[in-house]
Amino acid sequence: MTTEPAAMAVQFRFFEAHVVRTLRLGPSMVRVTFGGEQLKDFAGGGRDQSFSLFLPHPGQSAPVLPTEAGEGWFHEWRALPPEVRAVMRSYTVRAQDRERAEVDVDFALHGTQAPAASAAAGPAARWAAAAGPGDRVVLLGPAVEGNRSVGFRPPPDADWLLIAGDETALPAIGGIMDWLPAGVRARVWIEVPHAEDIQDLPSAAEAEITWLVRDSARRPVSGPLLEAVRAAELPGGTPYAWIAGESGAVKALRRHLVRERGFDRKSVEFSGYWRLGASEEDLRAEALSGRASEDS
Ligand SMILES: Cc1cc2nc3c(=O)[nH]c(=O)nc-3n(C[C@H](O)[C@H](O)[C@H](O)COP(=O)(O)OP(=O)(O)OC[C@H]3O[C@@H](n4cnc5c(N)ncnc54)[C@H](O)[C@@H]3O)c2cc1C
Repeated sequence: MTTEPAAMAVQFRFFEAHVVRTLRLGPSMVRVTFGGEQLKDFAGGGRDQSFSLFLPHPGQSAPVLPTEAGEGWFHEWRALPPEVRAVMRSYTVRAQDRERAEVDVDFALHGTQAPAASAAAGPAARWAAAAGPGDRVVLLGPAVEGNRSVGFRPPPDADWLLIAGDETALPAIGGIMDWLPAGVRARVWIEVPHAEDIQDLPSAAEAEITWLVRDSARRPVSGPLLEAVRAAELPGGTPYAWIAGESGAVKALRRHLVRERGFDRKSVEFSGYWRLGASEEDLRAEALSGRASEDS
């Protein structure tokens, strides 16, 4: 999600919250329900609404971060020692219950269970695997529904939708399925580590969902999404595509759609949700150094 300070102060704010309950969804995913008074004002826009989640380090009782999400919070947060400042990671709102002031977030548990060698763990996956009622977090989330952290915006003239992603995009795809109205045609591909990770994704839309179970003998990222979409016979008419997941897989699929299928590049919304071998800190540092060299 964006961290541009000026616009962010209007669209986003900090919400203190705590874990209400957890629910294991399958071998690779856990649903964590966050609650707390402040979440009454959490203005989720649905679909793939994302936000920044701040987590405590092991041994801390609450995440450490600046008190205001106003101009300057990011620099203040970065100025704190890395071992003290809260761990910041991007996640998606899977569902929101406004009356109960609850927000559900589904976490992929990469590297936290056997065989651990098949994927690297990270602080957020580790935190989620051990989360329990009362654990404190902070969300930097939407203060208004019309915010920039909703990426799924099909134009009214799209004839059909192509949606594809891995397990990190599964919560967003679930949110999109919930949001799509009747009469919309969607072809959906979802890649998950295990057959038991397959979920029921109800939708009013005419959605044809293809589940792809990753071959566990292969490295955690492979090309099942690309292979499946490449082999598919796609509908005619004007498409809108939404793709998210591992950065390399997303790029390859986008290239296929634009170069080989002739999709208008402006009609392909794509997002690398994570990158093999890089933590979210690494990706943020890379983005910041790119911005610094653009400025110089
Ligand atoms: C807009 C947005 C929305 C997102 N929504 C969700 C969501 O709802 N649910 C969700 O689970 N994830 C989501 N993600 C992805 C999540 O932010 C990353 O997976 C993140 O790296 C997890 O943090 P970590 O601390 O567990 O791992 P990090 O410390 O960031 O990374 C540690 C290591 O783990 C590897 N890694 C990271 N993720 C995975 C993975 N899934 N499988 C295998 N290896 C991995 C990295 O390459 C690195 O080597 C979203 C990302 C974005 C940008």
